[in-house]
Amino acid sequence: MCYIESMKKKVMLALICFMVAITGSFVIFWLTSHKNPVPPPDDYQLSENIPSTTEPEPITISLPNANPIYDIRLEYFAEDGIWALVNKTQPLQNQAYRPNDLVHTTLPEQKSGDEMTVREIMKTPIEDMAKDAKASGVELMIASAFRSYDLQKKYYTSILNAYGETEANRQSAKAGTSEHQLGLAVDFATSSQACRLEECFENTEAGKWLANNAHKYGFILRYPKNYETVTGYMYEPWHFRFVGVQLAVALFESKLTLEEAYPYLEQASINLVAQSTRSSQ
Ligand SMILES: [Zn+2]
Repeated sequence: MCYIESMKKKVMLALICFMVAITGSFVIFWLTSHKNPVPPPDDYQLSENIPSTTEPEPITISLPNANPIYDIRLEYFAEDGIWALVNKTQPLQNQAYRPNDLVHTTLPEQKSGDEMTVREIMKTPIEDMAKDAKASGVELMIASAFRSYDLQKKYYTSILNAYGETEANRQSAKAGTSEHQLGLAVDFATSSQACRLEECFENTEAGKWLANNAHKYGFILRYPKNYETVTGYMYEPWHFRFVGVQLAVALFESKLTLEEAYPYLEQASINLVAQSTRSSQ
């Protein structure tokens, strides 16, 4: 009987030792295997099944046949915005608007006074453009830049009196609907005064140089040929509008007017608002 009891104790002891050994081995294995976990592959964050924690994709604007625009402005309806759209159907909200940063540039001026000034944001671009044009043998002069509400009214009235309402509306903007009042539009002339504010300006060296190069400095030919039904104005090869380099280049590449590009610009603002709403949730 005692022998049997002793055997039971030995078997129990052996079992306990065995279980302790197994458990110990398992603990050692667990500790060593978790000490240096295998790093995830580099594209771990991009896995389809794992939500991304990286920044959202940047919103861009892609006009047809043009490189994407990354530098998106949202001040579409504020007079101070360089993408502000002002035309016959979209007048300035503040009729008395006058930029508070008008400056003269180093370009030759055909008149005196603040009609020769521009917004400070385009001072360097227009001076760089004039310098490069000069290096190509083309001298650019400012014929008219900023126009106050009152000055625009004076110009429109004189054309109205001379040619009647239909022609006045093709050639000039009623006060409060001119982008010259933004301080972001410039009528250029040549030093010879050839074809000053006339369609034949397109054939002058200045007209040709501007048509081919102005976009590189952030300017667009605002009223192109055969787009009167879109822009509301006759072809004005002398009138350029500053919108910044990215939009100017994209408009040049896509051959769209500012009016035609607007649905794309507005969609970008909708996408940006939607993205910021998502990221704040
Ligand atoms: Zn003009």
